[in-house]
Amino acid sequence: MRRLSHRITPSLSLSYCDAARRALVRALCNVPSATTANGAHSPDDIYDVVIVGGGMVGAAVAALLGTNRLTSQLRVAVLDVKPQPTRFRPSAVPDLRVSTVTPGGIEVLRRAGAWEDIRPPIAASFANMQVWDSSSRGYIRWDARDTGADQMGIVAENTLLQAALLAAAERNGRNTEFVWPAEVRALRLPYDGAAAVPSDSAGGGDDGGDGGDGLKLPHGLAELVMGDGRVLTTRLVVAADGAASRVRQMAGLRTWGWGYGQRGLVATVSTAEPSVTAWQRFLPTGPLALLPVRDGYSNIVWTTTPQTATAMEAMSAAEFAAAANKALRDPPPSTAPGTSLIPSLGPLERLRPLAEFGRNSGSGSNGFQDPPLVLGWAGGPPRSFPLQLRQAGRYTLPRLALVGDAAHAVHPLAGQGVNLGFGDARVLAEALAGAVETGMDPGDARILHKDYEAPRRRAVLTMVAALDVIKRVFEVQAPGFAALRGLGLSLVNAAGPVRNGLMQYAMLGQA
Ligand SMILES: Cc1cc2nc3c(=O)[nH]c(=O)nc-3n(C[C@H](O)[C@H](O)[C@H](O)COP(=O)(O)OP(=O)(O)OC[C@H]3O[C@@H](n4cnc5c(N)ncnc54)[C@H](O)[C@@H]3O)c2cc1C
Repeated sequence: MRRLSHRITPSLSLSYCDAARRALVRALCNVPSATTANGAHSPDDIYDVVIVGGGMVGAAVAALLGTNRLTSQLRVAVLDVKPQPTRFRPSAVPDLRVSTVTPGGIEVLRRAGAWEDIRPPIAASFANMQVWDSSSRGYIRWDARDTGADQMGIVAENTLLQAALLAAAERNGRNTEFVWPAEVRALRLPYDGAAAVPSDSAGGGDDGGDGGDGLKLPHGLAELVMGDGRVLTTRLVVAADGAASRVRQMAGLRTWGWGYGQRGLVATVSTAEPSVTAWQRFLPTGPLALLPVRDGYSNIVWTTTPQTATAMEAMSAAEFAAAANKALRDPPPSTAPGTSLIPSLGPLERLRPLAEFGRNSGSGSNGFQDPPLVLGWAGGPPRSFPLQLRQAGRYTLPRLALVGDAAHAVHPLAGQGVNLGFGDARVLAEALAGAVETGMDPGDARILHKDYEAPRRRAVLTMVAALDVIKRVFEVQAPGFAALRGLGLSLVNAAGPVRNGLMQYAMLGQA
């Protein structure tokens, strides 16, 4: 990247113009030219925003701040514990860590100035989605054209999304600096940690952290103590350091949630023919997704038990293909002629034909289709990751905002995780622009709460509830319930407006 520095750029290297612009923004935002008890801070020692974590979501925050006329004036630092990522160069076989990005997420990528580096064919787009059940004949198949769109979303390698967003942040953020690798040893907030803030979220989670160090900082700003002893003073810390967020712990913010006791197994696979459909079959252990990725490859995301995941990580390409094809293609428990999977539908009995014939009930673009045959993993064997639901009790404190997985980690069954994070990035960047425009301090707790946390918490919790219901509904394997589920799916597939309404919710996501 063009201007990427391995350490904070010394303020002396800034031009007079930069310094004057910065002084203006500082004056607008009432930033103190502070003197601390332990030494003097010139205004240039003070950052407006320090983003901890330069992953996809942290990079999106930096890029969005850089593209906005008001926030591009802010002095921003992005820190990551990992070394600077190398420039994205498509490898022969796509990486196995990919994300589906909904149109809502794509809009964020556009606004961030990163879309041109990501758009298909660098990423793959998909125009259809088919969800079906292994225990019944029910399915839903969506076609983007039903809502007048030409795609339902894209599937992109995480390394591509991160690199494109970092490049956009680098290009547009005239006052954005990068620090790689950087370890944050301590966080000091200008109050007694979370306890000093009215809580709407008792939490009860497992990472209460150390509650900050309880210092009341005389300048009223936040401080990050780095591994090399430097202290970064900032008006706002943005924690984008992932599900195990160290910043969240150091701030004493609790979380709630649970582990699913399952793992998400991912693999790049070759298939008999390329596809433009995102396929997802619900198995008794959880969903198995087969997603198109670039250059005709596909990606598998398979929710399964830890034991099965370990066994599959050791499989040869051919063994893995056999397991995947069985999971994707085995018919639902069959019925001998004249018998039925469905014991009794009670008052819904007249809908029996739809439930019995589920897969034959749709037609045209909404008719059931078989997924392509998987030929084997490509590039390397599958890898698996633990799955959890984790929500921070609060997303903000004075001078602190959590974004992305640091605020909320969700089950990947609908591919919404990073889309929720992109939504956080968009809303936070808008809140900060509003603060700059009205001369408010962007680290002000009221702004962070009203303009960022409140709307994002609503959006995220709605999605969390929807994902949890889907997961639980598909877990139940009792034959009668499975049949009713199949009936429900077939009814939704047959009812265009309901089907399309669901698609629009999923497509816009909560980004
Ligand atoms: C199997 C699986 C499949 C998924 N599929 C999808 C999908 O299809 N679509 C989707 O939307 N989501 C998906 N997700 C979720 C998605 O991957 C996450 O939501 C997303 O990675 C979160 O991005 P983030 O930037 O918040 O955090 P991360 O990606 O975890 O990035 C955190 C960054 O912070 C850095 N960091 C960590 N600790 C520190 C520290 N102490 N100091 C400084 N830096 C630090 C890390 O190096 C990293 O760069 C999936 C998740 C899994 C497990």
